[in-house]
Amino acid sequence: MKALVKELPGVTDLEIKEIPTPVCPDNGVLLKVRVVAICGSDIHYYKYTEPMPLPQIMGHEFCGDIVEVGKDVKDWKVGDFVISRVPTYPCGECEACKSGHPESCTARKSAGLQRQGAYAEYIVSFPELLYHVPEGVSERMAACCEPAAVCLHAVKRFHVDPNWTVAVSGVGMIGLLVIQFLRIYGVRNIIAIGMDSDETARLPLAMKYGAVKTINAQHRSSAEQVLEYTNGRGVDLGIDCVGSVPAIEELFKMIAKGGILGAVGVPGTNDIVRVNWNKMVWRSQTIISSFYSAPEDWEELIEYMKSGELAFEDAFTHDLKLEEWEKVFKDSSNPEYVKAVFRPNN
Ligand SMILES: [Zn+2]
Ligand SMILES: [Zn+2]
Repeated sequence: MKALVKELPGVTDLEIKEIPTPVCPDNGVLLKVRVVAICGSDIHYYKYTEPMPLPQIMGHEFCGDIVEVGKDVKDWKVGDFVISRVPTYPCGECEACKSGHPESCTARKSAGLQRQGAYAEYIVSFPELLYHVPEGVSERMAACCEPAAVCLHAVKRFHVDPNWTVAVSGVGMIGLLVIQFLRIYGVRNIIAIGMDSDETARLPLAMKYGAVKTINAQHRSSAEQVLEYTNGRGVDLGIDCVGSVPAIEELFKMIAKGGILGAVGVPGTNDIVRVNWNKMVWRSQTIISSFYSAPEDWEELIEYMKSGELAFEDAFTHDLKLEEWEKVFKDSSNPEYVKAVFRPNN
C-alpha cells in the first residue's frame, strides 16, 4: 500500500512509499482510510521541533471503511464506515510486557507516533475503539473526533458555569473547538485571543463558533485588554490552547480572584513557565490541566455532531491527496490555514 513516510530528522521531505499492507489481527479490523486530518502536532513532528522515533507514518485523526474483520471480532462487518479512537499497542519491552501481561503495559505505543499512523491507505484498529459515523455527519468532521474529544474532555474538567467569562488563548483548531464546547455547555461570554496572523480566518471563525469578543495580542498585552473589557475584574477561566510560555504568563495576569487557568496547549519539553506564586495563592487561583480524552467524550461529541450543535465544516481549508503533502506543511503557517485533511485512497 501507499504511505507518506517521514524518514529523516530535521525539516526534511516526506516521501510516498510502497509498504506492506498491515495484516488484520484476529482481534482487530482493517480500515481503508477515507480521511485523515493533519494535527498541529504532526506539523511539529514534520518540523522535528521535538524528537520522535523515525521512520514514521503520522496521522492519528481519521475515519475509514472496514475492509476486513478479524475472526474474533463480533458486532462489526465489512463495509461499516467508522470513526476510530487512536489505536495503541503494548510496547513489548516493559516489565509487564516481558512477563506476559501486555494489557498492563505502561508504555503503550500510539498509531501515528510510534506505530504506523493513518497517512496511509490502510490501518488496523480494534472493535472497542470504533464508532459508526452517523447519517449526516461529514467524513471530514468524522476524521476530527480525536482533537474534538481532547477539547470536550478539557471543557468538562473545568466544570464551567454558564455565567462565567472565559478567555481562550489561541485560535488554532484546538482553540476553535474549545470555544464550540464552551458554547454547547452554555457559556456565552467567551473572549478569543489571537495574533495578527489569526485576523484573516481564525478569529472570524472564533466569533462564528461562539466568541463574543476577539483580542489581538500581537501589539498590546492581552491581559491589559481583557482587564479593560471586564472592567478590571478579569476572567473566571482562562484557557491556554497554544502552549507558548509568554501566552500562559499573560493568561495568569487576566484571571479573576478565585479563577482558573486551564491548560490544554502543550509547551516544549524544556519550557518553564514563571508563576507569581504569592499572587496566585492570595488570589485563590487554580490550575487545571487536561490531556487526552476518555471514550465517553467521543460518544458525547458524536451526538453533538449528529444534532448539528458541533459543526466545523467551514474550518477545512485543505482537502488533498497524500501526494500533495507539501502544500499542507508549507501553508500551515499562512493566515488562511485552519485545518487540513488528506484522502490517502484518492
Ligand atoms: Zn491530534
Ligand atoms: Zn510494555
